[in-house]
Amino acid sequence: MIEATKANESIKGAAFIVKETAAQDVFTPEDFSEEQIMMKESVQEFVNREIIPHRERFENKDYAFTHETMQKAGELGFLGVAVPEEYNGLGMPFTSTMLVCDYISGANGSFSTAFGAHTGIGTMPITLYGNEAQKQKYVSKLATGEWFGAYCLTEPGAGSDANSGKTKAVLSEDGSHYLITGQKMWISNAGFADVFIVFARIEDDKNITGFIVEVDLENGITLGDEENKLGIKASSTRQVFFNETKVPVENMLAGRGDGFKIAMNALNVGRIKLAAACLEGQRHVTSLAVKYANERVQFKTPIAKFGAIQSKLATMATNCFATESASYRAAYDIEQRIDQLLAEGKSFQEAELKGVEEFAVECSILKVAGSENAQGCSDQGLQIYGGMGFSADAPMEMAWRDSRIARIYEGTNEINRMLSVGMTLKKALKGEIDLMTPATTVGQELMSGSIEKVTASDVLFGQEKQLINNMKKVFMMIVGSAVQKFGPNLDAEQQILLAVSDILIETYMAESTLLRVEKNAERFGVATQERQIEMTQLYLFEAIERVNAKAKEAIVSFAEGAQQAGMIAGVKQYTKYAEYPNISELRKNIAATVIEENKYPY
Ligand SMILES: Cc1cc2nc3c(=O)[nH]c(=O)nc-3n(C[C@H](O)[C@H](O)[C@H](O)COP(=O)(O)OP(=O)(O)OC[C@H]3O[C@@H](n4cnc5c(N)ncnc54)[C@H](O)[C@@H]3O)c2cc1C
Repeated sequence: MIEATKANESIKGAAFIVKETAAQDVFTPEDFSEEQIMMKESVQEFVNREIIPHRERFENKDYAFTHETMQKAGELGFLGVAVPEEYNGLGMPFTSTMLVCDYISGANGSFSTAFGAHTGIGTMPITLYGNEAQKQKYVSKLATGEWFGAYCLTEPGAGSDANSGKTKAVLSEDGSHYLITGQKMWISNAGFADVFIVFARIEDDKNITGFIVEVDLENGITLGDEENKLGIKASSTRQVFFNETKVPVENMLAGRGDGFKIAMNALNVGRIKLAAACLEGQRHVTSLAVKYANERVQFKTPIAKFGAIQSKLATMATNCFATESASYRAAYDIEQRIDQLLAEGKSFQEAELKGVEEFAVECSILKVAGSENAQGCSDQGLQIYGGMGFSADAPMEMAWRDSRIARIYEGTNEINRMLSVGMTLKKALKGEIDLMTPATTVGQELMSGSIEKVTASDVLFGQEKQLINNMKKVFMMIVGSAVQKFGPNLDAEQQILLAVSDILIETYMAESTLLRVEKNAERFGVATQERQIEMTQLYLFEAIERVNAKAKEAIVSFAEGAQQAGMIAGVKQYTKYAEYPNISELRKNIAATVIEENKYPY
């Protein structure tokens, strides 16, 4: 009932939940080309030279140093990887731009935020929506680091509800310019940006409009003080006040009222890139933690020898591996879609926008999973350091504080969870994915009591694949019944949506991990993937447990009587292994490799 994707069938956004993807169709980090590996190495070299040794300067809120380091990144071309060559960029494919975001971000949240804010929300709105003159004038400078960009959307009264901003843009009497007045807050890079992308409302328009505003403090722009933050200390974050700031009419971005669309689409790209930006942090923290665990002796034993520590190391490595697998899988799907649209004659702007929009569900999933795995990893890392984890003189304290922001910006994780389900349902309504047929079949399976038992299998991942398909069935069972019960009012049932979203997220993450390892086992041999197979099994076991809990929570929240009993029995059956893996053994083995290599090993 969960159909396989046909040969040569292009992969559609969110279709993973109703289809089975073939392992050879996914991109994995092991597929990087030589050129991509060279890029990755040059980014790593930059991080080792320019960022890691300067932890104290970043921690001491040295914003000028962040600016200087950003300029160095610009000199090396890192700021322009996603920008077409005609605007001084490197015009690299989507997976390469993810790779740069991933490896440049690892060791320091301040730099990572400055980099992400500039290259993502500070540059991409003009790259993707600007006209030729705007791109020539602004993108060419932003791509090299001659100028820096910031994105002014949030206001004191308009955070998650971004379209409710009060900032006004009033057309001058002679029609030559707009006068922008309003207050923006939490603006990353505000302290050194040369260009702001500002969202403001014209008259009583339903939607806000985007403007490109050159920073000139003589032109009604005032900056608030640097915010006192929990983490990312050297990322400049300020309020920006506009008081009749004159902006030429030609600096309107796209059309009047297009601002909300621009803001949301810029965030889609930002979300998947944020997931990438959470990866190297996890690798770095895992490596620091295992080094410490190998050296720290208690009870005359290195703490790495204790099962409690091994369990943490295994989880840290496994979750990072899963996030890597899912991030690059989605990035390649986006890249393929972009290439397809370009081949159909679409412009770079259209292709890039539509390509990412197609996979907006995956972008939201990754934003949530990436940020939560990164935070979980730094929390476990801090615990492995014990009291030393709590010391600001050791690196875990900074990692722990820095990782916290990723759950808040680029749309909070609550908003992204609800979006992921909402957008999946919208795709089904529009006929882009067929949720109805498999949901009906699941319903029939339940009613007739004919749910097939998961069977043991000698084929690699034979049992695991059945379980992943069953996770999809659990999603369809609950979503199908909830839609029947609430209809269009399902939007208001946030607690149910959050639970269902976790099922969606776990399914994508577990499946992506399995597909990566299956592909690698096929081409490199099963023996080379022993540990990765174990990580897949561990991730799946934990994912199934979460799906079980979230499914029950959702079911008892809206179903009653026989329907409730039937669905609970269905979940139990769908999530039941034929043969359970020995979880303690899996964790021991995974940790053994991390401990032996004394770093994140993949
Ligand atoms: C360090 C930092 C850097 C930032 N950089 C930028 C930047 O460069 N540019 C920019 O424009 N903004 C930036 N932001 C702002 C950021 O995007 C917002 O903080 C974020 O979107 C959340 O908005 P808010 O803070 O107003 O929280 P709120 O929207 O007030 O949310 C508060 C809580 O309520 C929840 N909530 C809100 N609405 C709903 C709902 N409908 N249903 C359920 N729950 C809901 C949220 O999930 C959250 O848990 C930055 C923020 C920080 C902290």
